[in-house]
Amino acid sequence: MKSFDVAIAGGGLVGGAIALELARAGLRVGVFDRQAPGQEASWAGAGILSPAPENPGMIPLVPLGKASRALYPEFVAMVEEITGQSVGFRPKGTLEALFSRHARAELSTIIALHHGLGLKAEPLRAEDARELEPALSDELEAAVLRPEEASVDNRALTVAVLEAAKRSGVEIFSASGVEALWREGGRCNGLILRNEKIAAKWTIVAAGCFSANINGAALYAPVRPAKGQMVALRAEELKIERVLWSEKIYLVPRNDGRILAGATVEYVGFEKNLTAGGIEKILSGAIELAPGLASARIEETWAGLRPDSPDHLPILGPTDVDGLLIATGHFRSGILLAPITARLIREWITLQRVSVDWERFSPMRFAEAQSEAATRQTPA
Ligand SMILES: Cc1cc2nc3c(=O)[nH]c(=O)nc-3n(C[C@H](O)[C@H](O)[C@H](O)COP(=O)(O)OP(=O)(O)OC[C@H]3O[C@@H](n4cnc5c(N)ncnc54)[C@H](O)[C@@H]3O)c2cc1C
Repeated sequence: MKSFDVAIAGGGLVGGAIALELARAGLRVGVFDRQAPGQEASWAGAGILSPAPENPGMIPLVPLGKASRALYPEFVAMVEEITGQSVGFRPKGTLEALFSRHARAELSTIIALHHGLGLKAEPLRAEDARELEPALSDELEAAVLRPEEASVDNRALTVAVLEAAKRSGVEIFSASGVEALWREGGRCNGLILRNEKIAAKWTIVAAGCFSANINGAALYAPVRPAKGQMVALRAEELKIERVLWSEKIYLVPRNDGRILAGATVEYVGFEKNLTAGGIEKILSGAIELAPGLASARIEETWAGLRPDSPDHLPILGPTDVDGLLIATGHFRSGILLAPITARLIREWITLQRVSVDWERFSPMRFAEAQSEAATRQTPA
């Protein structure tokens, strides 16, 4: 029987980053993926590294996002040094474009919100924004510059993190789908594959939006897929330096000249179809933001499935099952949050304490809610 210090279900960026961090701390780690690793959300994402909350419900995530953004330079340098592969990290800031007639009032609210959360944000007049990013539309009323935000080529990063993990001693098993957690009483002894049991002192569920399909994991990781459609454009004449946002879409420039445009958020199960409505929404939003894109070449279209939790916040940390940890539910921020997720899981396993408070993200918040509901339903 294969035996590890740590067995990880799922070889996306989250599972890969955790494996790398633990191997570098001297642990024997096995990663088990049902297909070739790194082909799901971590491949499909846009790679924006933005700790700013998209809505008030995401405010609890800001400290984690800031901590992870701060780790990014050393995370990238470490992965690039181990592998010799570039991961397209672009610490150039992001720019949010405001089109409404009430842009000036919106601007002061947005800036105050960011400053209140300890996030850098600068108001820009339309002409100053266009000087920074000449591709922006003439219709722009004002903009917000977030100079500390960044982007990364998440496809290149995921490949490099998995390669760095291998070179650091992690064993990665493709076509090794995890069917169940190997539970005995109050302990998790490892993973159960189709024809094999894998023994481990620590077991981590990091199978993205598929985590709840692993037998025994759904109570702690009740995630569901949130489909996102994306388009990659190429426009030789058009230069975009920073990530650009509007209310409708975002544009993410890559080092190779591609401009990614995205993304929809759809709850339609596990299918990854591209739809006319989805692509239309992305393209019309992209052309509204940067009209020159009307003549851009469409190079690629795709869709991916984000792991979303019931409160849209990540699910991180230990459970009431000895040896079982969860690391999923990163929804729209899993690329941003991979370094801090890996760091906190490593701290917990090696030190039994963490440097950033993760109580709010505990897997027990769902397990406890379900057992309370079950108690209420049991007749006296
Ligand atoms: C369109 C889109 C845009 C996005 N944009 C951004 C962005 O700009 N910034 C950002 O921070 N985040 C973004 N995200 C979110 C981010 O991509 C995800 O949160 C992150 O990639 C999740 O990583 P993961 O490793 O948990 O999951 P995944 O990458 O989905 O990996 C899960 C892995 O588990 C494997 N698996 C599944 N079931 C099993 C099983 N039973 N046994 C073994 N293995 C299994 C899968 O094969 C896969 O390899 C975006 C996502 C999408 C789809």
